[in-house]
Formats: sequence, C-alpha cells, structure tokens
Amino acid sequence: EQYVYRFGGGTADAGRDKNLLGGKGANLAEMASIGLPVPPGFTISTAMCTRYYEEGEAFPDSLRTEVAEGIAHIEGITGKAFGDAGNPLLVSVRSGARVSMPGMMDTVLNLGLNDETVEGLATAAGDDRFAWDSYRRFIQMYADVVLELDHDAFEEALEIAKEDRGFTLDTELSADDLRGLVAEYKALVEKEWGKPFPQDVHDQLWGAVGAVFGSWQSERAKVYRRLNDIPASWGTAVNVQAMVFGNMGDTSATGVAFTRDPAKGDRAYYGEFLINAQGEDVVAGIRTPQYLTRAAREEAGAKPLSMEEAMPEVYGQLAKVFDTLENHYRDMQDIEFTVEQAKLWMLQTRSGKRTAKAALKIAVEMAEEGLITRDEAVCRVDAAALDQLLHPTLDPKATRDVIAKGLPASPGAASGKAVFDADTAEKRAAAGEAVILVRTETSPEDIHGMHAAKGILTARGGMTSHAAVVARGMGRPCVSGAGGLSISARDKVMRVGGREVREGDLLTLDGATGEVMAGEVATVQPELSGDFGTLMEWADAARRMKVRANAETPADCRTAREFGAEGVGLCRTEHMFFDAARITAVRQMILASDEAGRRVALDRLLPEQRADFAAIFEVMAGLPVTVRLLDPPLHEFLPHEEAEFAEVATAAGVEVEVLKRRAAELHEFNPMLGHRGCRLGVTYPEIYEMQARAIFEAAIDVAEKSGAAPIPEVMIPLVATRREVDLMKAVVDRAAKAVFAERGREVEYLVGTMIELPRAALKAGEIAESAQFFSFGTNDLTQTTLGVSRDDAARFLGAYVEQGVYSKDPFVSLDIEGVGELVEIAAERGRATRPDIKLGICGEHGGDPASIAFCERIGLDYVSASPYRVPIARLAAAQAAL
Ligand code: ADP
Ligand code: MG
Ligand code: MG
Repeated sequence: EQYVYRFGGGTADAGRDKNLLGGKGANLAEMASIGLPVPPGFTISTAMCTRYYEEGEAFPDSLRTEVAEGIAHIEGITGKAFGDAGNPLLVSVRSGARVSMPGMMDTVLNLGLNDETVEGLATAAGDDRFAWDSYRRFIQMYADVVLELDHDAFEEALEIAKEDRGFTLDTELSADDLRGLVAEYKALVEKEWGKPFPQDVHDQLWGAVGAVFGSWQSERAKVYRRLNDIPASWGTAVNVQAMVFGNMGDTSATGVAFTRDPAKGDRAYYGEFLINAQGEDVVAGIRTPQYLTRAAREEAGAKPLSMEEAMPEVYGQLAKVFDTLENHYRDMQDIEFTVEQAKLWMLQTRSGKRTAKAALKIAVEMAEEGLITRDEAVCRVDAAALDQLLHPTLDPKATRDVIAKGLPASPGAASGKAVFDADTAEKRAAAGEAVILVRTETSPEDIHGMHAAKGILTARGGMTSHAAVVARGMGRPCVSGAGGLSISARDKVMRVGGREVREGDLLTLDGATGEVMAGEVATVQPELSGDFGTLMEWADAARRMKVRANAETPADCRTAREFGAEGVGLCRTEHMFFDAARITAVRQMILASDEAGRRVALDRLLPEQRADFAAIFEVMAGLPVTVRLLDPPLHEFLPHEEAEFAEVATAAGVEVEVLKRRAAELHEFNPMLGHRGCRLGVTYPEIYEMQARAIFEAAIDVAEKSGAAPIPEVMIPLVATRREVDLMKAVVDRAAKAVFAERGREVEYLVGTMIELPRAALKAGEIAESAQFFSFGTNDLTQTTLGVSRDDAARFLGAYVEQGVYSKDPFVSLDIEGVGELVEIAAERGRATRPDIKLGICGEHGGDPASIAFCERIGLDYVSASPYRVPIARLAAAQAAL
C-alpha cells in the first residue's frame, strides 16, 4: 500500500483527494499541477495516521523507504541535499486534516538545521543573520512541538536577548546575537529534555512526523473536533515540504490573504503581510502586520506601506494567482504565501471561512458573475449560520460610551460581563450569564471560552489573528488588536484611557466597527433585504417542502410572515390560557365539580379564544393554520406556591381548602404521560368543543371581514389509537356543523392528529382513515421513543453524546435512525391509506438543517420552525431538495 504522494515541479502524484491527502496536501498538489509556484514536497496520507495509532504509535518499515524517495524527489527539484553541510535542504513538516482545523495542529519549520548545516545555509545564502535566525526558530519550534518543552522559557530567553540590547523587534538582533541565543536554546533543551538537541536530520524528521500524528490526539484538537463534529477516525496527513524563506531580508516576506473580504464579502483582495518574517509571525500577532492593498491601508489610515506599494511586482503576481485560484476552485480562497527574495511561493489555499453576511454576499455575487449557478449559490451558505444575521445589531441611535477601538474582526454586536480567562467564561456562561472574553491575545487553549462567550475582545493581533479567524468561524462578534488596552488576566482587570473594567463589569462590542463600549447598548432588528432577499428567492425557487412557523401570538405570526412562513404549523392554545385576563376562568373550569359548572366557565373563555384565533387568522389570511387543541395536564394551570392559594381561591370564588384538594387530586406522578392531550378531550369533551367553536367562529369572522378565509387545521394531540381520533373528530365536526348552520356560511377545514407516540406511528394506517393530516410532534415522539424525559435528560445526555451513544443531542437534531424510522413508517402507512394525507413536522427539529434534510428525503409536505428559524428552514429545505 502506498502512503507517500509527491508534488511540485509542475506535477503531483495524486489530485484532489482530501480524504487521502488531507485538505492542505490535496490543495498543494492541485496548485502544483495547475502550474502555480509551490515548493516541492510530499504528503504522508491520512491512512498512515490511522495505521500509526492501530500499531501502537509506530511506523512500518515500508514508510521509511517511501519517505526516503520523497526526500530524494525534493532534492532533485531544489538541487539541495537533506543534511548536507554545503547546500542543505530544509523542510517544513505540516499537519493537514481533511477539513481545516485552524491552529489546532502543530507545524515545524526549518527542519534540517544543525550545527553544521547552519554554516552551510549561511554560506549558500550569503547571509549569516538569516541562517542563525532560522536555526533559533527551528530549535524553539522543535522544542515546543516535538519535545514538548516549556515554550515560555524560550520566549523569555528571546525577550531578554532583546532587552539586554535595548531592542524591541526580533529583526534588530544581529547574526552574533542570534548565534548566542542558539547556544542558550541548546543549553535549555539539554537541561529540560535531558539530552542534547538532535543533530541528526533524519531523527529530526521522524520526530516531527510523529509529533504531527501525535497532535491529532491533543486536547485542543479533541475539543475542536467535538465542537465541529469531526470524527477522530479521519486522522491527519503529514506534509513535508521544501522551505522557502520569508526572512531573507527586505525583499522577502510572508503573508496570509483572502481573495474576497471574509467579514463583509466585498470583492476586494484582503490580507496582511510582514516583511522579513516567517510563517506564523503574521498570525501570532508578534509584530503588527501590514496591509496587502493600498486601498485597505488608506482606509485604515495606517502608515507602513502596503504590499501593493512596497513590492508592486510580486503583488501583481499574487493578484493574478488569486484570480487563477478563484476561477479554479470557484470559491473564495484563504491563502498563505511567502516571498523569498522577490520570488512568490504559494504555501496553502483552501476555501476561506467567512461570516454569514460574507457567505451570502459572495454566493450571490459569484452567481451573478457567472462563476457558479444559482443552485450552487444556495448550497454555499451554511443554513445554520444564517442565525447570525437574523439577530439584532447595535442601535445606531443609541448612545455609546466608547472606551476603545480595535479591528472589526468578526461582525455582530454583543453585550456581556467582562471575563479574563476561558475557564471563567465557560463557568459563567454555564450559569446563564452573558460574558465577553477579554484576552491580550487568544490561543487554541482558549477555544472553549470563546465558544462560551457572546463576544471576544483582544488587545493584540490582526484581522487574521487566531481570535479573529476562530470568532468568524463560530459566528461570535470579535474586536481584535484594540491597541490601547492593557489587560491583566491575573488581576482580572483591563485598563484603558484611565478607566478600569473589572471582571463582571458590562461591556459591549461592535464587531462591525471595532468599537468597545462600557455598559450595555440597545440593539435593532436586522435588515432582511439585499443579498439575503436574493438568496432566499433562489432558495424558494429550489425547494419543494413548504415552511411554516410555530407561533401563537399575532406578533410571532407577523415575524414569521416577514421571515417567509407559509402558514402556522403549530399554534399551542394553552399559551393563551395562561394570560392573566383569563386564567381565572380557566381555573374555574378546572375546579368545577360537574359538566354544567365547566360549561359556565367555558362560556366565559369562548369569546377570548375566538378573539385570539381571529387575530392570528387575520395575519395569516389565506394560509393554513394548525391549531392544537388543549394539551398540557390541567394542574399546570393551578397554583403551586402556598402563598398563591388564597388569592386564587378568592378570584375563583371557592374555599382555599377546595382549591387545595382539587390541586392534590390533579397531582400526577408522571405528568408527561398523564392526563393530558386528547385524554382531556375524551374525559371533558366540552373543552375541545369550546375550542373548536372558537376556531370556526373566528374563521368565519375573518372571512367575512377580509374576504380571505384562513384554512384551519384542527389538531388532536397525544393520540395513540384511531378511536381517540374518531371521538374527538366527532366533537370538532359537530361544532363546525353547528357554527356553519348558525352563521349560514362554511369555511374549509381539516381535522388531523399529532403523531407523537410510538403506537400512533405504528398504527398510522388506521389512524389515517380518520385523520386528514399528520403532524409529527418530534419532541414528544423523541421522549416516548427513547424513554427519555426532556426535562430530566440534562444529567446524563452530555455523557451519552460524549461516549457516542447518540451522536448529537436527540432533542436538537432528530435521532434519524430510531425516531426517524418511526416517522418514516407512519408516513408510509398513512399515505397507503390516504394518498393525499398532509404530512408535516412541528417539533423543535423543524428548524434543524440535518433533520430538515431527513424530512425532504421521506417526502414530508412541510416543516414548521420557530419564527426566527424560518429562513434557516427555507434555505435548508432548498439545500435538501438540490
Ligand atoms: P497551519 O495549518 O497552522 O496554518 P501550516 O502548515 O500552514 O500550519 O504552517 C504555518 C505557516 O508556516 C504557514 O502559513 C507558512 O507561512 C509557514 N510554512 C509552512 N511550510 C512552509 C515552507 N515550506 N516554507 C515556508 N514557510 C512555510
Ligand atoms: Mg499551526
Ligand atoms: Mg496554514
């Protein structure tokens, strides 16, 4: 079996296969084969990573042969030799999983340097300083990544070397200074590791390869995989590649760039670079990087020349490469490059992470440019990420107490309490607090805190710093590089312009402007036109399923319609019962000792319910509205606190003792499976009769007033048998007949049922003889199928997901294998009986893209989601259909 694949010199052994080569390796191979300047190298495939772990972290002998051939390939193209004292070949050893895991895996640069080859490098390059700078970088990285020694000791030695000489920048250190530093570093290694720094270049190489495979199981890689649903079985590839040097003086540089603005989506080259620097320097925020384009520099009012101005020729080549890459990959690219003595080298390309706003704009514009089709544009936008756009931004009219300004690294607004370390962020967020994570700069160790925070603020780092990249990926607002801040994580305080912000103080960030404000600032609703509207139109053209909303107030219905809902999939009538104005009548109904008493109370409720429904029907004129008849157990409407009993008893006109006795009677051991749903209707049909009457009277009122009749779909909850539907349907039909006769007018309506018990799913064929539609209530269906109470699941569900019992929280993303099978069975059996039966889903899952894809696959007619998730559902439904 082959594990090593070569690239460079205009060709590559293997092409686009990311599963085999990892993302980085596949794209390096591809860039090489389309003629872009890529330093030659080879990739050890991801299959080797898997085998490495299977065989107890050891390499097979065949790999040594293959790697030797790979090195020979690089030597052949570069004319340099690995370990050669005269003209040494240096390589980088880079990780690369199938999907990019920014900053998660370790990379070693300048490998192949030792006490001999460093002299050879100096002679070959005619530059002592450069050679010794490379050697000290190599030892530092190797000690950190491969030997896992304390990083800070090396940083400290570097800082002291600079301080002793009164320097602030690494670049000020001379060749001799660096030579001294290397000696110190070597002593440090020997002291900490117990052995001298490895001088054999092959030992160095195998150590680094092992470290890359090892980093696949590092804690931070595991956290990242968990957050991003990446299976551990994928493994990482290792790329070994000839070094090119951005640290060879002022005609050399290193940079990162995007072919379009990843924050706003504008069609403009976007990036940062540093002259006389190497690799991670730009991302690590050690020096403040310079802008790529003149326009960006001018807009920011920055002084140091842009690349366009400082190196116009190379910049011109780079711009051409950007266009080539966009045309080739047909997507916005995120690029890493190095300039070695005025020669451009490409070191990485991948589809760039972007904000939801940028994703929309780029997808729409690329379709308009003809680079991709409209359907492709629809598939380019992550439906779940739309969430970022559907939420408020800062009210432009609100007063802002701006205390600092940084870079607008990731858009959106966030307010919360300042916290100064990731663990505290996680703890406070878990306790329900909104927090802003404030750091000098972030590193991969901060990921869990960034995830927990509403927003991220850093004092250092540019637009492509770790904080910025990760925040954009997570959709968290971020302000980075806010220069005026002095942050002490130890003392939990941030100082800026004579002011102090301590842990727990409120802060607001505007990720769109880079402003940092004291206190909380008012927000406004988002604008839903422009690119959003265009993409939604294309999505609507592509989707088959309808999208409805779960809504029970006119305000929610209006929001839902603005977001494009095509009906109400679930109107929960009990929410109306809790209204202060009518709860007394509800309680009187519950407390009544016989039907006559209940009817008196129900007569008082009827006009209220009718008004509720009329208001909803008016907003949803002409569209279907599914109204679920009363569902929760009655005791939910009675007081539970001792203090309330007296007051409620007086209001309801009964003795406190009577009220207490009734509350005790209604107590249930397991209310979720108790006297609720249609069981209420079977025992007290007059309740459902009143509700049905209110629905039909309201429908006729609205039809008469506006001419556009709503289409009520009356839904019977918690059905297990056909007989229940028959009984309740008779009640509803009787009410309809009575109202139609009284009013001399009819409206179209349906009577159907929720499928939320396993028995109902299995007996769906029979139930469909009576029910005209099914709506899958997947919240209860999940509870009853898994035998897991949603309200009690928190104690163990986390452990279940962690240990792979369920791959995701089954209340968030449908358990397709189990619950999904019941849904599929019910849909099939229902259709067999009644081919035109209407099928929809109204559980929480109706707004979850993965669950929506399942609904499309089994041919449901619609999904219903909460109003704010309607656009997500529209887009996900389109993507599922394409
Ligand atoms: P990451 O996945 O963390 O981005 P990379 O493998 O891309 O790690 O390496 C980080 C940086 O190191 C790159 O951006 C690039 O600037 C530098 N680098 C990697 N390989 C080389 C090389 N062969 N020559 C010069 N610089 C390199
Ligand atoms: Mg890295
Ligand atoms: Mg990289």
